[in-house]
Amino acid sequence: MATKAAFSLLTGNNIYEEDPIIEPILKHLWEDYTDHEQELVEFGKWAGDELIPALWHLDNHAPPQHLYFDPLGERVDQIWISPLQRDLMNKLNEFGINSDPHSSDSLIYHYALGYLLSDAGLYCIFTLTNQVAIILSKYGPFKEEVPYISGAQKPYKYGATFYTEVTSGSDLSRNQTIARKDGSKWLLTGEKYFTSNVGIADYALVTAFEEGSERHIKNLRLFVVPRHREDGSPNYVIRRLKPKIGSRLVPTGEVELKDSEAYPVGDLSLGIYYTVESLMYARLSNSVASMGLAMKAYLEAKKFAEQRVTFGKPIIKHTLLAAEFEEYLDKLRRGVLLGFLAVAEMDKCWQVKPPYNEQYLYARLLTHIAKNRTAELAIDITQWAIEVFGGIGVLSEFIIERWHREAQVTIIWEGTAHIHALEMIETIRKKQAGRLLIERLKDIANSEDLARAEKIISFIESGEAEDVIRKSRHLLRELAIIIENAYLGQFS
Ligand SMILES: Cc1cc2nc3c(=O)[nH]c(=O)nc-3n(C[C@H](O)[C@H](O)[C@H](O)COP(=O)(O)OP(=O)(O)OC[C@H]3O[C@@H](n4cnc5c(N)ncnc54)[C@H](O)[C@@H]3O)c2cc1C
Repeated sequence: MATKAAFSLLTGNNIYEEDPIIEPILKHLWEDYTDHEQELVEFGKWAGDELIPALWHLDNHAPPQHLYFDPLGERVDQIWISPLQRDLMNKLNEFGINSDPHSSDSLIYHYALGYLLSDAGLYCIFTLTNQVAIILSKYGPFKEEVPYISGAQKPYKYGATFYTEVTSGSDLSRNQTIARKDGSKWLLTGEKYFTSNVGIADYALVTAFEEGSERHIKNLRLFVVPRHREDGSPNYVIRRLKPKIGSRLVPTGEVELKDSEAYPVGDLSLGIYYTVESLMYARLSNSVASMGLAMKAYLEAKKFAEQRVTFGKPIIKHTLLAAEFEEYLDKLRRGVLLGFLAVAEMDKCWQVKPPYNEQYLYARLLTHIAKNRTAELAIDITQWAIEVFGGIGVLSEFIIERWHREAQVTIIWEGTAHIHALEMIETIRKKQAGRLLIERLKDIANSEDLARAEKIISFIESGEAEDVIRKSRHLLRELAIIIENAYLGQFS
């Protein structure tokens, strides 16, 4: 019998069964749903009984630590992970949160568990690992390592993506890291400023420019950098871990590459394609995790509102708050649907390779739309959930404030809102992905929404460039709402 933790009203409940939204959406979009239903129920129980209490404890009392030296004074740069967190990571691998891309056709199970897990830090560890497993399985090198990196075989191994530098997160053409060829070996030198999963990851995807090449995004190269050199010594220096307001369970550090041994991913000249593709899988994770953590905050708030009494009745019975509970449930339904819609579209084409196909470009467009919308919703919903708790909502001894802290990062990493607005323009203006969206909406959107979507797509395709950019963030949101309206109509 699970013990209810005092800091959370949700603990001790099955978070899959408590969720009023996820089941019909997964059933609608995932043809293998029935094969996995029991696993989702089991995961929901484990999450309510053990995962959420453990996350609260780890986040508050035992996040990853950087241990610089051993007792003999040797610099070791160990990232210490609590044994409890290691146990959770093993358990997530046993649940099969990631799967070997060579033997699995569908990615949806990964995203379904990601939604239920949804802790921005712990899930990030598996998101990054999933990205690396997919990229290596498609393009190599180290294909033989993929069963370990995907958690299909022990010992479990992990991945990371080191792209951002102090000069360049959104604009990777400003990366300063240099790749130099020494005989048959590639050696990388530079500094990476945000390196999540550092110390855990066995393999990192790393962006760099070849020595002497022009700093143009098309010349960006993608390499794999193992944690250790061929002789077993550390392949890079971990300078420090960053203190963060959320996502604390994934260690995010700074890394110095000093002639670090590196291996090209696929065809070197396609580095920018692989880099952007790897981000797509993480952007989808971000979308479902945003909504998963928003759902946890909503459920906590609902349980509180059912029991907290003011003016003679439970606060959920007051007309104003009752209306808001309906409004926020609608927001959740929209976000969860949009996130999994993007996942389902990517699931149809994730095996395709550059120059990709029409379906991939459509899935990419939906991913930009979903990533931004779900992050905005998560911040809004978790903020509102704090309000429902009143003064108790801001006390760090209870879990509710944590979901809002976790939500903050979802709008920044894997591309900021501005970058998704700009990338949406690119997929519509340069790659005509908007036409496929209109095709899909034709049979399911109401006439007013369809006319508006056609107007938006035409404007993005051929409007004056500066004007399109100025309005793009609003248009990104408006397209999201039109898509949600259309697909929600299919449910009723
Ligand atoms: C907790 C955390 C973990 C992270 N982990 C990783 C990791 O593991 N690997 C990794 O590679 N990166 C990681 N990042 C980095 C993250 O991806 C970047 O912070 C993000 O992409 C933004 O880049 P930046 O910080 O350099 O901001 P900038 O690119 O400097 O942007 C600053 C502001 O300017 C805006 N802006 C930039 N260009 C434009 C434009 N053309 N038009 C309009 N607005 C613009 C941005 O939207 C933003 O609001 C992590 C970040 C965080 C917060």
